[in-house]
Amino acid sequence: MESMELLKKLSEAHGPSGYEDEVREIIREVVSPFADEVKGDALGNLMVWRHASRKDAPVLLIDAHMDEVGFVVSHVETSGFLRLAPIGGWDERVLPGMCLQVCTRERKKIVGVIGTTPPHIQSSDEKRNPLTLEQLFLDVGCGSRDEVFALGIRIGDSVVPAESFKTLSSNVVSGKAFDDRIGCALLVELMTFLADQPRLGVEVVALFSTFEELNARGAMVGAFTVNPAAALVLEATVAADVPSVPETRCPTRLGEGPALTLMDKYTHCHPRLVRALEATAQQNNLPYQFKRPIFGGTNAARIQTTRAGVATAIVSVPCRYIHSPSSIMRIADYEHTKQLVTAFVLDAEQWIRGEE
Ligand SMILES: [Zn+2]
Repeated sequence: MESMELLKKLSEAHGPSGYEDEVREIIREVVSPFADEVKGDALGNLMVWRHASRKDAPVLLIDAHMDEVGFVVSHVETSGFLRLAPIGGWDERVLPGMCLQVCTRERKKIVGVIGTTPPHIQSSDEKRNPLTLEQLFLDVGCGSRDEVFALGIRIGDSVVPAESFKTLSSNVVSGKAFDDRIGCALLVELMTFLADQPRLGVEVVALFSTFEELNARGAMVGAFTVNPAAALVLEATVAADVPSVPETRCPTRLGEGPALTLMDKYTHCHPRLVRALEATAQQNNLPYQFKRPIFGGTNAARIQTTRAGVATAIVSVPCRYIHSPSSIMRIADYEHTKQLVTAFVLDAEQWIRGEE
């Protein structure tokens, strides 16, 4: 499957934290024919093994989280409007007017809009203060609670933006859930690529994790199971190269290649791994950038503190507008990240042992 075709499929899949089933099924179907072993666990993680050329080889864990930010139906009004509770960190300013998709227990998809009061009838106070999620409601076109139930919608059903994958220009794409379906797509491509290569001196385990947006608890248990010697987290990270944002508050920029994290709010990446990533980029003439500290947090924080500690690094594709209905990515950044990660993993045995 072409990279952007795979990313489209993953981006459009419905999968907020705790409801990752659709994403997991897509990944399982694509990687299973190439994998040495595929396992799940009680938290919904999917782990995929590519065995090493020898037993007792060090284990390299590569993580990408399947979940996206979303909502859950928390209440149905007698009038037929739905109330929502957030899954993960939303900027409430972007919610009014947003088109959302509810997924019922029977996996029926029902689209609605977050209704707003028209400006014509707003008081000047209302105009000044952005609405909070608690004040907002989802309108699925029903006139009563019974009508809502008749559609199959129940409290606890999950909700995500009803946003399709789009090509904005020949080299820029947009869509929902780029954080972290981009990481998932990269990891799927890496595992299918490795299946065609001679076996490496390291055991590679792909962890497609759940719950990153809810305290990263999926990666916490996944990393415990895998028990790695080193770990690499693949992410989509904040690019803020837009008007009115000063350089000092701009973590990454589109078009400048994969972003290497030195430290963020919760993680200090292993200096040897960061240096090895930088050296790999330079040797392969790939662009790269350092993510400006100290914004954001990822599964790396959990993986790094697993068991007796794991040397961990993070490589991200820069994306604008993450945690909103439409993110934007440059295809070249995706391709350069894929090349960097692939080259890095092929040399993994050397850098895990500390030979540079
Ligand atoms: Zn993420």
